[in-house]
Amino acid sequence: MRLQKFMAHAGAASRRKSEELILAGRVKVNDKIVKELGTKVDPKVDRVYLDEKRLKLESELVYIILNKPIGVVTTASDEKDRKTVVDMVPDDYRVYPVGRLDIDTTGLVLLTNDGELTNKLMHPRNEVKKTYIATLEGTPSKSSLEKLRNGLDARDLKTAPAEVKILKSYKEDSIVEIKIHEGQNHQVKRMFDYVGFPVKKLKRISIGEIELGNLQIGHYRYLTENEIRYLKRLK
Ligand code: URA
Repeated sequence: MRLQKFMAHAGAASRRKSEELILAGRVKVNDKIVKELGTKVDPKVDRVYLDEKRLKLESELVYIILNKPIGVVTTASDEKDRKTVVDMVPDDYRVYPVGRLDIDTTGLVLLTNDGELTNKLMHPRNEVKKTYIATLEGTPSKSSLEKLRNGLDARDLKTAPAEVKILKSYKEDSIVEIKIHEGQNHQVKRMFDYVGFPVKKLKRISIGEIELGNLQIGHYRYLTENEIRYLKRLK
């Protein structure tokens, strides 16, 4: 991260003022005075001083949403060295994904360093609804939809009632919206498999009131104040 950004995040001064301090020779990185504005520092290894006082990053809470592409894993690090959602957002703060999407699912992933919020969102008690758009093989019958709406009670798949509706129906496939508030492994795929309409494509478009909107695939944005307030209001 650039030195003036580090200084601003450490609460030393605004970025502009930090630039003045750097140019004035008042800033040291490790044991050297640095006067170049573009200087990069690694917050994990470099020591930054302003007039001999050590600066440290404030532990700010950050909230980011990403439109995850296919092929990217939803973990912080991957043992097979595949690209992760964390690789796709700025690394000023160490953020973690809240919950998971499968490698071949696209859409909304929330990343934060707010551990308390993560715990809250992951707790089934909170019943935060997640909305998915699924492309299915075939078009589910009324009775299949009813099964999903009532909740499944199979030996290896028990689910709470889901909201589900058909958005479009074609000859070979259909596009369906489904809202669930649980997070079992591969849940949406398993639910549609169970009723006989396998998922061909899956995308998450919202978590509660946080919506993907027109965020392009592979892009991220920071949550707005309103969105953060909404998340914090959840029990
Ligand atoms: N359900 C799935 O089957 N896959 C996901 O990625 C998310 C929900």
